[in-house]
Amino acid sequence: MERQDRQAGSTDPLIVAVIDTDTLVIGAGPVGLFQAFQLGLLGLNTHVIDALPEAGGQCVALYPDKPIYDVPGVPVCTGRELAQLLLTQARPFLPRDATTGRIGNLHLNDQVASITQLADGEFDVGTRQGQGFRCRAVFVAAGAGAFVPRTLNVAALEGMGNVHHHLPEPLDRASSPWAGQHLVVAGGGEEALSTVAALMNAPQDARPATVTLLHRRDQFQAEPALEAKVRAWIAQGAVQLALGVPSGADLHSDGQAVSALQILGADGAVRALPLDHLLVRLGLSPKLGPLVDWGLQLDRKQVRVSADSFQSSVTGIYAVGDINTYPGKKRLLLCGFHEATLAAHHALAQLKPDQPQHLQYTTTSALLHQRLGVA
Ligand SMILES: Cc1cc2nc3c(=O)[nH]c(=O)nc-3n(C[C@H](O)[C@H](O)[C@H](O)COP(=O)(O)OP(=O)(O)OC[C@H]3O[C@@H](n4cnc5c(N)ncnc54)[C@H](O)[C@@H]3O)c2cc1C
Repeated sequence: MERQDRQAGSTDPLIVAVIDTDTLVIGAGPVGLFQAFQLGLLGLNTHVIDALPEAGGQCVALYPDKPIYDVPGVPVCTGRELAQLLLTQARPFLPRDATTGRIGNLHLNDQVASITQLADGEFDVGTRQGQGFRCRAVFVAAGAGAFVPRTLNVAALEGMGNVHHHLPEPLDRASSPWAGQHLVVAGGGEEALSTVAALMNAPQDARPATVTLLHRRDQFQAEPALEAKVRAWIAQGAVQLALGVPSGADLHSDGQAVSALQILGADGAVRALPLDHLLVRLGLSPKLGPLVDWGLQLDRKQVRVSADSFQSSVTGIYAVGDINTYPGKKRLLLCGFHEATLAAHHALAQLKPDQPQHLQYTTTSALLHQRLGVA
């Protein structure tokens, strides 16, 4: 059973609400999701946080449609399919609200900023959005760091309500603020071109009235078939192409939204590109960010762990998946899943020393069936 939320108790004055939980997983990549599953199987409740708007880590952010061939028992699946399978597997412990569809203990679009160990050994964890957690063990499944979108180098765009960086999934009317309006997509790589394709193929009521692809030069970096498709739309006039480098922005009178981008062309002239919405699709870059300040022993930006427990240099903080290092480490999904399993068992022994620790099989254990909801 989860302990109750409480309103006080964080050491950080900016934190207003604190969720009390046995364990906290930082990162909802494949390893973080499997970590939540393993913790649930062992009867430890958990919350998971990710900086991205969607779970799946690299699999969804970097290669959603590419095939993976080396996950045991799954001959082939795409990155996005693997993330969905892991979410489905973890559902007993990351349950979805039947009405809203939200997973209550999966916190997306938020980044862990601080971890403080208290005198009693528990941890106070704070996020950028002011959410606090009090927990007894932390599992850092942070990959190469928090994935944050690359931005256009124009200060005036910061915090503007009509500047977006993520393509919603699914792309429907409710998730498309640009439906029926003028949308500029910035970028010339795979991500920008596949965004244009997704917008053109979206349901009619979710499509923008016009799509303009903005790139610094008339050269794209994308798979030939995708580029050919986008070039054909440009040739037909279904997609506009604007070339140049954004050098500034005009704002609406309320100062909350952008009305036009100032574009510096190859001829040295600056022209205004009016828009209703701007979708910046320049890719994601991982930022190790605040992790370096958490007091963990690092080895070339990886968290050093012991290879039998996957515990870091701080008792109670574990590191699993791509973020950790130990002799023989391989950055593979399979290795991350193994690490998450052993880390969960080690944490259980530390947190509930009086509880019997014998290994139980999901095939035959009535207790595990009960936890999985299949009893
Ligand atoms: C193109 C490509 C192909 C690959 N193919 C294969 C393959 O075929 N087989 C294989 O085994 N492996 C493959 N890999 C490697 C595999 O994807 C990684 O090993 C795996 O994604 C690691 O999972 P992870 O959960 O540790 O980290 P990630 O997938 O990187 O997820 C980490 C998550 O943590 C979040 N995060 C980090 N810091 C914070 C913070 N402070 N607050 C909130 N959230 C945070 C990030 O936003 C991210 O979503 C491939 C990798 C790439 C790039």
